[in-house]
Amino acid sequence: MTPPVHNLIGVSRGQLRHVLASVGVPEKQLGLRTRQIFHWIYIRGATRFSQMTSIGKDLQTTLEKNFSLARPEIVTEQISVDGTRKWLLRFPQDDGQSVEVETVYIPESDRGTLCVSSQVGCSFHCSFCYTGTQKMMKNLTPGEILAQVLVARDSLADYQIEGSADSGSLASPSGLPTTGRRVSNVVMMGMGEPLLNFENVKQALLIALDDDGLGFSRRRVTLSTSGVVPGIHRTGDELKVALAISLHAVRDDLRDILVPVNRKYPIAQLLDACRQYPGLSNARRITFEYVMLAGINDSMDDARELVRLLKEIPSKINLIPFNPWPGTSYKCSDASTIAAFARHLHQNGYSSPIRATRGQDIMAACGQLKSETPVIPLGK
Ligand code: SAH
Ligand code: SF4
Repeated sequence: MTPPVHNLIGVSRGQLRHVLASVGVPEKQLGLRTRQIFHWIYIRGATRFSQMTSIGKDLQTTLEKNFSLARPEIVTEQISVDGTRKWLLRFPQDDGQSVEVETVYIPESDRGTLCVSSQVGCSFHCSFCYTGTQKMMKNLTPGEILAQVLVARDSLADYQIEGSADSGSLASPSGLPTTGRRVSNVVMMGMGEPLLNFENVKQALLIALDDDGLGFSRRRVTLSTSGVVPGIHRTGDELKVALAISLHAVRDDLRDILVPVNRKYPIAQLLDACRQYPGLSNARRITFEYVMLAGINDSMDDARELVRLLKEIPSKINLIPFNPWPGTSYKCSDASTIAAFARHLHQNGYSSPIRATRGQDIMAACGQLKSETPVIPLGK
């Protein structure tokens, strides 16, 4: 049996130095070669080492023999009437099985946001979330997290091409952003709770933020959490990316039901961690996500309490119309209730607080992600 080929997507700079040293790259070249290979993988989108013309034929051949940059299999790619795209990706696993993961791309005129998954399933089981109905199967590896971005960039032809500073200068097919990168923003808002997979998410995001890696600025990378307080502190200390909090309720008794992790980290503790998040200002605010559930959390009292709770925190509020999924008993608040709720927020200084629903026709909207067959024995 041939040994498994080690995929280098998601390998940190330090790990790559070791890999290169192990195939005989001299110590004094390790820094340069690491930077070059990062550049080829993430900025130029190389899928073969033979494309890496700056690293020399011998090293290309050695790497080609021992390592890979293979992407996951794209099981399906769906495009919504509104231009949202959803990929179902299949990742082979060391034990011979494979797992499936969903990734969603949301284009707007001035940006393209990729919604990336961090786990297969989720152990938190928030009562209104489709992903939460799926058993927690696995933490994604840094490579599996970053491969989602590379698949999107492959599919959208979003790499720097030789001689050009930015792919944004290419003519854009309709529906894609007309300026800047097609994938200009990353949000860790797909399947799973990123702070329950902190080490892998951290390794992936450090490569996403690395100038020789994907090169995203910190304000274009957002991590969303349902409220794992120690993880919020670590995110602030070690990543400093933009933060989103799935708040969804303003009272502990209700939040205990909607977002069960609240029983461990109640609202007061969660908001304290938010207040301590480094670098907050009017230009760098925390996003609070609030799903609108008819008759559950959508009263004017809730709106008033929300404003009161967030008073001292530089914050944005995103009201998310509830997206239904098979088997749920929740209903989305009606349009006039959402409008009244939003009006109260608006009067208190929160601009455009309603998040447009995107990709609903392909089950790509918030909370609708779930892989139907999360684990597949190889060979099927
Ligand atoms: N686990 C993390 C990341 C997922 S982000 C978190 O919970 O923050 C996905 C966002 O969509 C979260 O704010 C989640 O609460 C919200 N969501 C889940 N199910 C939803 C649904 N059916 N309709 C609208 N939003 C939903
Ligand atoms: Fe998990 Fe987030 Fe869904 Fe809750 S809302 S079940 S934490 S993915």
